[in-house]
Order: sequence, then structure tokens, then C-alpha cells
Amino acid sequence: MKDSCFNEFDPNALNVEEALKKILHSIKRKGNHETITLKDSFRRIVAEDIKSNKNIPNYKNSAMDGYAVNFENTKKENFVFKCIGESFAGHPYSKKVRLNEAIKVMTGALVPESCNAVVMKELVAVKNNQITINSRISPNQNIRFPGEDIKKNDLVLPKGKEINEIDIGILASLGKSSIKVAKKPTIGFFSTGDELIGVNQKIKKSQVYDSNRYLIHGLLQKYPVKIKDYGVVRDSLPLIEKKLKKASSQCDVLLTTGGVSVGDADFVKEALDKSGKISFWKIAVKPGRPLAYGKINKCFFFGLPGNPVSVVVTFNLFVDAAIKKLVGQSILKPLMLRAKLESDIKKRKGRKEYKRGLLSVKKGELFVRSSGSQGSNILSSLKNANCYIEIDDDVNSVEKGSFVNTIPFELSSEHYE
Ligand code: AMP
Ligand code: MG
Repeated sequence: MKDSCFNEFDPNALNVEEALKKILHSIKRKGNHETITLKDSFRRIVAEDIKSNKNIPNYKNSAMDGYAVNFENTKKENFVFKCIGESFAGHPYSKKVRLNEAIKVMTGALVPESCNAVVMKELVAVKNNQITINSRISPNQNIRFPGEDIKKNDLVLPKGKEINEIDIGILASLGKSSIKVAKKPTIGFFSTGDELIGVNQKIKKSQVYDSNRYLIHGLLQKYPVKIKDYGVVRDSLPLIEKKLKKASSQCDVLLTTGGVSVGDADFVKEALDKSGKISFWKIAVKPGRPLAYGKINKCFFFGLPGNPVSVVVTFNLFVDAAIKKLVGQSILKPLMLRAKLESDIKKRKGRKEYKRGLLSVKKGELFVRSSGSQGSNILSSLKNANCYIEIDDDVNSVEKGSFVNTIPFELSSEHYE
């Protein structure tokens, strides 16, 4: 098939993988860490391997309310035991249980060493101090053994893991009240544009509410970082330079939006060139081609595009990885699912595209469709989406019925009916 005459190939643009490599290569992990309380550790990054210093559970205990018995394994049925005591959770029975003796046990209560099974309450006939069991008993049934969940010296959390609610539960079950995590780096941002006004101001025609700063603030809240909002800067080279200088001296990473293209009012690239060092400023990606990356003294700088969808896509693709590298978090590849296209997708060769899509399952098969108008200014396409549809640089339009790669935002499905 002949190539489309519309080819977006730009020899000065890096492809997504090259750009990501350059970014990750340039950023060294900041080794600083701090010890914080367990409750405060949600979404923080573990600074050292955490091994278990005990077995979980740490004592032999009952999985049922019933009777812990010392029984003879050769016998098949009609067991009769003398009930000699009881063991509650937190109140163990500490004497010996001999052969053909039993004690009453509650779930989680200590099972004495000499007991070799627990029989559930419902299967036991009780008469005075005697209990009778007419079913089979298997050795070790209904007993939870030490280390069944976690063994002493097991690696519980590897360095670089983001702590979630399950991890917090596990650490608490090990009796850890504090934890060593990476220190929060400071991420600052400002918007550029003469058309921008604050959300509490009255809007005139030709003005735009500065939504990017709210978008970025929201995006950053998912990360273990300190957030600094530097407001809006007008489209002026000296003003942008001045703000870059100030903000870069206070931040580990600085993000700007807008003014990074080649229009007459786009000064971000030039300001970066004057204040620091540009690594690259074009990526073969759609949305988000103009993206200036570089360094101002010790601060890593991302000049993101102005259009809101481009902000989110480039943040997800590049800023995400940069923050993770900085705090020593493991950087995992996104989960990629192959899905069948429900409608044609228009595209030109030359850039990798991240269309916004809606994944759904029909009769066990995965389908995806566009989530609406795909302009980089149309934030609704992201609002209505649950995945990106990733289409490679060298691919032209894709037809309905073809299989495409999708990256789900969250592992959820559609709304309930
Ligand atoms: P620019 O990259 O500065 O040419 O901006 C591209 C488009 O994004 C223009 O339509 C801008 O009005 C819009 N834009 C830039 N910055 C923001 C912002 N902070 N909030 C909302 N829209 C913006
Ligand atoms: Mg602008």
C-alpha cells in the first residue's frame, strides 16, 4: 500500500521511547529518606527492603469455633474426648492436652502443641464433660500454623515499592509502627499565557480559565511529593525567565504549561535555553509534540504543551516516570490489553498517538471505541475515557475490527446498568 501523502514525520522529534530513556538517564535517584509513622505511609516509597522479623501468624491457632483435640490418627470414627478446658483468643489454655482429651477453642485462640486437629462446633455432641464426634478427623484440620501467611525473614516490601493500604495492613501485622521512606521531592509548576485568568475571576471573550494548574495539581496529588503552585506568568520572555530562575531554585522538578511551541508568543523554550540547558523539545507523540525537557541548575524542567489533553498525556508518559525515578520507585510498564476496534480510527504516520478510548467487555471479548472528539483541547475525551488507545508512529489509519493496544487507566469496567 502507498504511504499517505500526509506524513507527520519530523526529523528533529525524538520518539516516545528515546525521550523516556533520555529523561530517565538524566535523573538520579535522590537518596534522602525519612522515618514516618505507619499511618502516614500511604503512597510513600519504601526506602529499604523490609523483611519480616517474625512468623505471621506467630502461634498455632484455630480457624474455627470448636474443639481442639488430641486424637489417635489410626481411628476412623466415633471419637470420644474428655473436655478439660477452654482457650479463647487472647486467653490461652496453658496445660497439656493428653491423648483423647480436648479443649473448647474459639477462632484465633491458641491451639496447644499437643493438639493435632480442630473439629468445628457443629459436628460435636456435648454431654457434661464428654464430647463425641461421629465424623472423620484429618490431622491438622482447621489449624492455622505459624508462618502460614508470612515466614520470618521473608521479603515483605522491596525497596522502591509504593505503599498501599494492604501493605500498611501487613506492616501493622508485623508490629511495625514506623517506616523508612523516600523524602518528598518538591514539584513546582506555573502556567503561561496572556489569555489565562483565575477561576474566581469574571471571564471575557478571548480569555480562558487557567485549568491546567488545577489539572496538574490534581495529577501531582497521587504522588509522594510536595506541591508548589507558582501561578500564571504572562507571555513575556523576561517574566518567564525570572519565574524560571526563582522556581527552579526551590524545586526538584518544575513544570510549565503553554508557550512551548513555535508561535510568536511562545517563549518557554528560549527562556529555558537562557536559564539552563535544553535536552530536547520535540517528541513524535500526539497529543504533545512540543515538550521542552532540560535542566535549570539542579532542577529538572518540563515545558509541557498548553492544551489540556496534551498536558495529561505528556504528564502520564514522562513526568510520571521522572517523579518515580527521583524517589526510587520501581517504574513498571503500563498494562497493555489488546482490544477489537469498534469504529475506524483516523491517523497519519509519523507520531505515536494516544487516543482516548472506552474499553468494554462483550461476551468475554474486549472491545474499544473512541471516547469522543479527539482534539487536544477537548478534555471531555479524557473525562469519558477509561483507556488510551496506543497507535505506533509508523501506522496509518486503523480499521474497525482490527486489534489495537489499549492502556487502561484503572482496572475497572463499565458503569453498572
Ligand atoms: P499554547 O501552547 O500556549 O499555544 O497553548 C495552546 C492552547 O492551550 C491554547 O488554546 C491555550 O489557550 C490553551 N492553554 C494554554 N494554557 C492553558 C491553561 N493554563 N489552562 C487552559 N488552557 C490553556
Ligand atoms: Mg500560549
